[in-house]
Amino acid sequence: MAPPVIGIDLGTTYSAVARLDENGRPETLNNAEGDKLTPSVLLFDDNNVIVGKEALKAIATDASHVAMCMKRELGQRFFRQELEGRHYPPEALQAWVLNKLRLDTSKIVGPFEKAVITVPAYFDEVRRKATQDAGYIAGLDVLDIINEPTAAAIAYGHQQGILDDMLSRNRPMRLLVYDLGGGTFDITIMEIASGAFVALATDGDVRLGGQDWDQRLVDFVADDFLKQFGVDPREDPNTAGRLWRDCEDAKRTLSARSKTTIPCDYQGHASRTEVTREQFEKLTADLLNRTSFTTRQTLQAAGLTWDDIDRILLVGGSTRMPAVVDLLQQMSGKEPDTSIAADEVVAHGAALRAGILMQNDTGERPRFNIKNVNSHSLGVVAVDPATKRPRNAILIPRNTPLPVSAKRTFKTQKDGQNSVLVQIVEGESATPDHCVQVGRCSVRDLPPELPAETPIEVRFHYEENGRLQIKVAVADAKKEIRHEINRENSLTREQLNTWRRFISGAST
Ligand code: AMP
Repeated sequence: MAPPVIGIDLGTTYSAVARLDENGRPETLNNAEGDKLTPSVLLFDDNNVIVGKEALKAIATDASHVAMCMKRELGQRFFRQELEGRHYPPEALQAWVLNKLRLDTSKIVGPFEKAVITVPAYFDEVRRKATQDAGYIAGLDVLDIINEPTAAAIAYGHQQGILDDMLSRNRPMRLLVYDLGGGTFDITIMEIASGAFVALATDGDVRLGGQDWDQRLVDFVADDFLKQFGVDPREDPNTAGRLWRDCEDAKRTLSARSKTTIPCDYQGHASRTEVTREQFEKLTADLLNRTSFTTRQTLQAAGLTWDDIDRILLVGGSTRMPAVVDLLQQMSGKEPDTSIAADEVVAHGAALRAGILMQNDTGERPRFNIKNVNSHSLGVVAVDPATKRPRNAILIPRNTPLPVSAKRTFKTQKDGQNSVLVQIVEGESATPDHCVQVGRCSVRDLPPELPAETPIEVRFHYEENGRLQIKVAVADAKKEIRHEINRENSLTREQLNTWRRFISGAST
């Protein structure tokens, strides 16, 4: 029997899994609770880790044992909150979510390992690596990491039958994908042309999503409560958790109705705060403005105007807020496309991508290609000759089509030098401290007796999935030179294996 073809949307607040059915059509799979969406939330209950709906419920009673929004902290060494006396790396916490998805899915499709996982287009290299590591810990064989908006565009292309007539299309179709999820915002402009999905430009914010809208309501109700009774319901984690849950619920209600009431009980006092949609939109106007600013900038970066955009796709649960649709209508003068299931489309695209990759294994011709751009500039730390200060020497500017290679030549400083250290950063700032530290690449075992000033060529290869490879060459040296990226906040191979055995029980 053919192995199952699985795509996973690992969301900040909710995750989803899809497979391709026997006709090659994507379908969302239910989890063990019978739901299509699994809250990306963990409850640490003595020696048990409970994932999903039950963990989300516990936010109102057991908040200090609940971990959520781990995706926002990928790339950090430890998750902000201590859980049962222990600090966990965010990728291990994400792995618990993936492990549940894997176990629940295998009840339907049988045991499997291969899967494609999605990430926000705006994720940097460090966060992509952390996501891949989370997949490994969860016992998965991660076939590819693809961008959420690309996945959405693929699923849309499939649904609209564009994939089938793509090779014969003579005019490219341009999509603007506006993706506002629970914790991240992504904007990507894609072109569908002659058998390929090509990203033209991408931008976003990894710390902007539905959670921020929830927080505004929490603060609104809590400030009102504080004024009335002189006590702040946010100071108790369980009350704050309950209030957040009620506010998230109220936010969803306000997408359908013009007003709602949010209850709050704390220390024997009770309030019921009425909120209208208009008030809610005023409270959150600056958040929405951040998305419109980024949208305009991305359009500009692609060298396009709204007239060049054929379709606007809305992805992510937060695009159900009427203010989002209004904003895009106003900005573009076009009607956004709401024909796709905002919560499921990303997982569907991931499954379609997995299908292509698994087809490649069998030697069949792929139906489409994906061409991405890098979302952040990649550089190395160099010394500014004028100021003698360290600065970010950009090698691969953002929005460069991937894969791409770039090289930089370093020189040894003294005779017989044995190693060279290259510090890699990602970001737009000239100051390395304001960039993400990808890591250091130490080039060791240089041939003996090299004279000072010997050129050493370091070649960066940015892969299609936004992951970095490094190759090193010394003129005249035939031998292979050892190099490795020592990542600032990454788990070592041994640590990954320990977590893998612990969380998924998979062999290493
Ligand atoms: P996603 O990560 O795409 O699943 O999006 C989850 C986010 O969408 C959460 O912040 C939800 O609160 C939000 N969301 C889901 N449905 C609605 C709705 N009807 N109105 C407003 N926000 C929603």
